[in-house]
Amino acid sequence: MPLLSLWDEESHVGKEPEEVLRSVFGYSRFRDHQEEIIRHILAGGDAFVLMPTGGGKSLCYQIPAMIRPGMGVVVSPLIALMQDQVTALQQFGVRAAFLNSSLTVDEASRVEKIALEGTLDLLYIAPERLMTERALELLESCSVSLFAIDEAHCVSQWGHDFRAEYLQLSVLYSRFPDIPRIALTATADGPTRREIVERLKLQDARVFVTGFDRPNIRYRIASKTNQKQQLLDFLQAEHPGEAGIVYCLSRRKTEEIADWLSSLGLEALPYHAGLEADVRQRNQGRFLKEDGIVMVATIAFGMGIDKPDVRFVAHMDLPKSVEAYYQETGRAGRDGLPADAFMLYGLSDVAVLRQLMDKSEADEQHKRLEQRKLNALLGLCETTSCRRQVLLQYLGEELENPCGNCDTCLEPVESWNGTKAAQKAIYCVYQTGQMFGTKHLVGILTGKDSDKIRQWKHDRISAYSKGQELTEKEWSSVYRQLVAMNLLAVDMDRHGGLRLTPDARAVLQGSREVWLRREPKRERRPRAKAKAGETAPAFRDAQPDDNALFEALRARRLELAREAGLPPYIIFHDSTLQDMVRLRPATPDEMGHVAGVGKQKLERYGEAFLQVIKGFER
Ligand code: ADP
Ligand code: ZN
Repeated sequence: MPLLSLWDEESHVGKEPEEVLRSVFGYSRFRDHQEEIIRHILAGGDAFVLMPTGGGKSLCYQIPAMIRPGMGVVVSPLIALMQDQVTALQQFGVRAAFLNSSLTVDEASRVEKIALEGTLDLLYIAPERLMTERALELLESCSVSLFAIDEAHCVSQWGHDFRAEYLQLSVLYSRFPDIPRIALTATADGPTRREIVERLKLQDARVFVTGFDRPNIRYRIASKTNQKQQLLDFLQAEHPGEAGIVYCLSRRKTEEIADWLSSLGLEALPYHAGLEADVRQRNQGRFLKEDGIVMVATIAFGMGIDKPDVRFVAHMDLPKSVEAYYQETGRAGRDGLPADAFMLYGLSDVAVLRQLMDKSEADEQHKRLEQRKLNALLGLCETTSCRRQVLLQYLGEELENPCGNCDTCLEPVESWNGTKAAQKAIYCVYQTGQMFGTKHLVGILTGKDSDKIRQWKHDRISAYSKGQELTEKEWSSVYRQLVAMNLLAVDMDRHGGLRLTPDARAVLQGSREVWLRREPKRERRPRAKAKAGETAPAFRDAQPDDNALFEALRARRLELAREAGLPPYIIFHDSTLQDMVRLRPATPDEMGHVAGVGKQKLERYGEAFLQVIKGFER
């Protein structure tokens, strides 16, 4: 680990938070809550911070760690991430180091030595390491300014990120009672929050909750027609050359889609738990270090992916729940720039999930809970109102007005009274013995002439040809929605045949109305609109060659990143490059006003980027 110039870096003890924000990180103002949290920690209080991904949690402990005397100790569950964060901090000129199993004994003792000397601002440490007597004794001999427990939801035994070592972190409370502790998470659900407070003994901590909205993410959910082509259209039309994640349910599918995209000349890589560890490592490394890789992955990929410029997350299959959808889509657009969450879903997804649930070993109560979760997810897919409102409401938050940045807001969907259609569709299932799949049923309703229909004599039943008012596509959509509403169920053991559920009776009897979503005629492709950032007014007007300049800056960044063996975003984020395009600084002083250019980065990289900008002067 490069401890390089640690000794030259300046100390920030006793400075004002704004000054550190500006001079070190190059940002002009704090976001919601950041300053309040920082001041609370500086005053010696404990804090529990709930903030969405990309909300800016890191600064909440990094800045107080730099200002309070002593070093801040950060517990972080992922080794790869730790290294990334420390490298990023060192680039800002912050005196940071880490202790984990990736270090040799020699390297670790060097880190321990500088920790004891008191010249570190931040020490990142893996939880299993922290719990060793050696580490605890080391910390008792050092001056510690605060403990930050990142990804605090890892303490929850019910979550899938559970880390047994996190359970022992209450030791910090008993052994270091006077040192402020700050726990941070992006987890939105209530039971997990309560578990964190209890297990980490944070009863007296002040709780800071910011909203969970991610306004820069545009939500879009479309029904599956030709999923590969739909994905390709999306990638080519909206994200050419940009980095993103495509989630698939099965390992095989990730490989198939990655291969297919690669064969078309896109930079796509697979990622799943069944790949050799070194292949996984390499693919993840490329995703982080190169610009514009599409990662086609199972959910094994994601936690700890701190890449700020993931421009989209696409779901080729339904996630497990609304929470999972929120978490997974949340990996897009950490840098605050516009990003897309694009999901395709179809009847078979519902069938697969329902089947998984039925087959699960869980007890009845657990199954009912899973059932409710699935229904909530389907509600999100089929809603005719604002997706963000539905999503946030599920997370326990009220969004007063429709967001204007989701598909249903941008192109409102009609709902229609589909009671009659539902009756016909359900009756057709009933009349054919509750054993056929959608395709056959739709064929009957639309009066198709097929061998299978004739063979079963389904052209002689009363349902035959009774659905001429809708197209085949529309009938498929009706069936999908009826399954989503749990009026029909898919029998996976009988080749995906549909059958009636107890609720279907009310519809047939006419005592229940059914409202359906009208499928849009074509794929929605709302245009991106830029969001105002946290930036200063421009020095110069927008120029026609803005795009070319942005690309040139990206290219320069990639060169520098390669030379230094760093991911490009550690040098500058895209948002910083965009700010350079907007501001077009001509002098180092002007460059210092660009958001994300602190003192150290100005010194290190300012000139290289000024040169690129100079090439675009007229
Ligand atoms: P989180 O840990 O909550 O997911 P981060 O701490 O990684 O989020 O911050 C997300 C992004 O926001 C980073 O690119 C960070 O540099 C940027 N950021 C944080 N605070 C500010 C601020 N006050 N002004 C501008 N950018 C900020
Ligand atoms: Zn909306």
